[in-house]
Amino acid sequence: MAEVVVLGAGLSGTLMAYELLPQLRKDDRLSVVSQGAVYHFVPSNPWVAVGWRKRSEIEIDLADIMKRKGVRLLTQGAKRVHPTDNKIELGDGTSIDYDFLVIATGPELAFDEIPGLGPQGHTESICHVDHASHARDAFDTLASNPGPVVIGAVQGASCFGPAYEFLFILETELRRRKLRDRVPMIFVTSEPYIGHLGLDGVGDTKGLLESEMREKHIKWITNARVKGVEAGKMIVEELADDGAVRKTHELPFAYSMMLPAFRGVEAVRGIEKLTNPRGFVVVDKYQRNPAFTNVFAVGVCVAIPPVAATPVPVGVPKTGFMIESMVTATAINVGALLRGNEPTAQPTWNAICLADFGDSGVAFLAQPQIPPRNVNWSSKGEWVHYAKVAFEKYFLRKMRRGESAPFYERFLLDKLNIAKIKEVRTGT
Ligand SMILES: Cc1cc2nc3c(=O)[nH]c(=O)nc-3n(C[C@H](O)[C@H](O)[C@H](O)COP(=O)(O)OP(=O)(O)OC[C@H]3O[C@@H](n4cnc5c(N)ncnc54)[C@H](O)[C@@H]3O)c2cc1C
Repeated sequence: MAEVVVLGAGLSGTLMAYELLPQLRKDDRLSVVSQGAVYHFVPSNPWVAVGWRKRSEIEIDLADIMKRKGVRLLTQGAKRVHPTDNKIELGDGTSIDYDFLVIATGPELAFDEIPGLGPQGHTESICHVDHASHARDAFDTLASNPGPVVIGAVQGASCFGPAYEFLFILETELRRRKLRDRVPMIFVTSEPYIGHLGLDGVGDTKGLLESEMREKHIKWITNARVKGVEAGKMIVEELADDGAVRKTHELPFAYSMMLPAFRGVEAVRGIEKLTNPRGFVVVDKYQRNPAFTNVFAVGVCVAIPPVAATPVPVGVPKTGFMIESMVTATAINVGALLRGNEPTAQPTWNAICLADFGDSGVAFLAQPQIPPRNVNWSSKGEWVHYAKVAFEKYFLRKMRRGESAPFYERFLLDKLNIAKIKEVRTGT
């Protein structure tokens, strides 16, 4: 009998549990260590922040689902992983042992790296549903007293898609409320150009996103380094290509949402050979840590080097499709190890994303994620918005049923039947 443990029950951890189950032998036990029993669908947070969703609509209680599936759910969270002892210290002072561990702890949000950043400071966030609910209240305040809006992603951020999504979703909602004429908007980003997305652009994301911003009278600052945020004011340094400060901006705002940089969570950060200096888990081509070979990692907690050096540091995004490929490969590899075989499955790490703009959106595919690419495609249209709404419903239904299919991939392939996506999957 083997003890298999998944640490974290967000997108990657929950899918990991569902996909590991069929890989277990009769007497193996699967445990999931989570922080509380409620899962929330992070991609819908931007909609919560403008009131298009209630948080209850995007939350799922995992307790019954896991029980039904025979998974032990430990909701007290992990304090520290001890990989040399194959042990996890839990939040309530107890500990559990494992034979195989899959770390799926997502990011810790590094608001503290910039004075005044984040919901404890002066900017909103959409990374967690608690933040999105807070952002919703701040949006109501903006609606009753309109003023300038600053949206973007700070130095070291890796999650740019949601920053653009939220920019356009907020813009759409302001237009619907006939308030847009009283709200000057600016996008502030560490990316070297609009549409870089941490991937050096995909297809014509630069042209598509710039054009969308021009059409909607949204200004922007790229190569931006946020020095600090005070109540109603953001100080931003705009860097030149050689890294020198070209201009310092003082941006007044009535409302601001800035995506922070990510780092690894405390339970794994600073563990020699397990994590890199930012606390992300180092993995090989099989999603396995090279030093602790019974430890795997999936999702945002995985260390991925940047695509190329940029004047202001930017990270590589880890999106749903890529995460599913990590999860599927890991499940197969743990299954192999349980049977005394070596791991063979490798994730594709291709990037496929739908970015909603509220009434339209942009889809992009990058294969491989580092350019030059075999497939480098982007497209804009109303269909992206509707596809994203449909996907949310599909995903939450599957998740509630505890089904183990790679949701994102199957949805894009079967329901949307996008020829380009087939190309990425099959390589033809
Ligand atoms: C606002 C936003 C929108 C996004 N939209 C999209 C999208 O539309 N499409 C797309 O493909 N990708 C999207 N992404 C990217 C990505 O798909 C999500 O971030 C996704 O949630 C990442 O999954 P994860 O499992 O790695 O991390 P998470 O979903 O954050 O899950 C990590 C889990 O680990 C838990 N955890 C952390 N520490 C501990 C501990 N010590 N003990 C126990 N549990 C712990 C956390 O509580 C959390 O539940 C979006 C990201 C953001 C921030």
